[in-house]
Amino acid sequence: MFMNPILERHKGELDKCVTCAICQPVCPTFQLSGLEKLSPRGRIVLLRRIVNGDIDPSIIADDTYNYCTLCYACQSACPAGVKTDLLFIGARQEIAAAKGLPKVKKKVFEMLESPERVNKAVRMGSIAQKTLGSATVNRLAGGMNVPKLRGKAILKELPDVIEPEGGKVRATVAFFVGCMSNYVDARAAYASLEVLRRFGARIIIPKQQVCCGAPAFNNGDFATAESLAATNLALFEDAEIDAVISPDATCSGAFRHEIPELVWDNDELAVSAQLVAKKTMDWAEFVLTRLDPRFPPTREPKVTVTIHDSCHLAHTQKTHRSVHDLLAMLPNVEIIPLPDSTICCGFGGSFSAMYPEDAATWAGRKLDTIGNTSAEIGIVSSPGCLNHLDMVRSDRREINYRLMHPAELICERYGWTPGW
Ligand code: SF4
Ligand code: SF4
Repeated sequence: MFMNPILERHKGELDKCVTCAICQPVCPTFQLSGLEKLSPRGRIVLLRRIVNGDIDPSIIADDTYNYCTLCYACQSACPAGVKTDLLFIGARQEIAAAKGLPKVKKKVFEMLESPERVNKAVRMGSIAQKTLGSATVNRLAGGMNVPKLRGKAILKELPDVIEPEGGKVRATVAFFVGCMSNYVDARAAYASLEVLRRFGARIIIPKQQVCCGAPAFNNGDFATAESLAATNLALFEDAEIDAVISPDATCSGAFRHEIPELVWDNDELAVSAQLVAKKTMDWAEFVLTRLDPRFPPTREPKVTVTIHDSCHLAHTQKTHRSVHDLLAMLPNVEIIPLPDSTICCGFGGSFSAMYPEDAATWAGRKLDTIGNTSAEIGIVSSPGCLNHLDMVRSDRREINYRLMHPAELICERYGWTPGW
């Protein structure tokens, strides 16, 4: 039986699983469904049978692997170190290859290769959401829940280069915006650019950048993901750049982790993927470790915050503590620990598009946990999670705390607004 290269390379991970179920309590889809088959262990046991050739992937129900937020809390919890991320992506690709991707998904992923087509579609989608309503747009999108679109891509609003405050360059970085910031919710991108600029980064923004490929990769469309990776790697491998920075943990995680896996056996791309992976950092990690940030005293009143750790920082990159450490340096800011801070909020990219009700239920649990800390502000360190939680919160009038990206908090405390 032919298997996709990722599954072929990593199928040995399946043997490491001792079926202990320690991963079950951290798994949102097991907690939501109560079903073994929708738990990490259940998915591993089934995948063993697929890999052994006992079950044809074409007969696997779509939900088995799609109804997974790809949060990888299971991987962090697993005492045997099973790489569930690569296994579950490999499973999705195997099933997609056997059954074919749904037409709408295939079209969307292919469109991502042409930013102009995406810009046009997003502009039209935004107009349609305002005139026809979200329900109609969702119906036209094959039943997927489309987030509220911005209308204008922020890559069209940003300059090509942003010089640092005061002119002294401490580092030169290339900025990867990410689709969520580009087309849906730009708060995180604008604020993190401003924090980078204030602490001495010269920021280059390559305008030809395309989607990082994570949505295509995560849904088993490896060919489109590889084509997108090729475009971005050519732009970001520039040796004159100290780092590639993204405000979106999903995208920085893709550059660091998923793209090198994807192009592992591609002679033309593998070296450049490793190079870019080594240079890629989340914005907070970069500010903290490379820009020596000093926060001056402020007359702002004391504020209490609590921090939700986005999965792709906590479980893919394991750099979530940099957000805590950076915010701990802010005068008059008290951080209240958030129980289960590294458990998924239910966003999960295509998960919230395909299973909006369950995604909202799980977000509600996160919102309650934040509320129980009595913090005045809930900090959410990735734009997709922030937008998802904010959307669900808009139906919860009793919630009186605010949700912000960590860079937004820094900008608000010092009255910093985009200085370019
Ligand atoms: S994936 Fe890890 S934690 Fe989960 S059942 Fe297997 S060995 Fe146990
Ligand atoms: S990645 Fe997250 S949702 Fe998927 S099986 Fe693991 S814990 Fe559950």
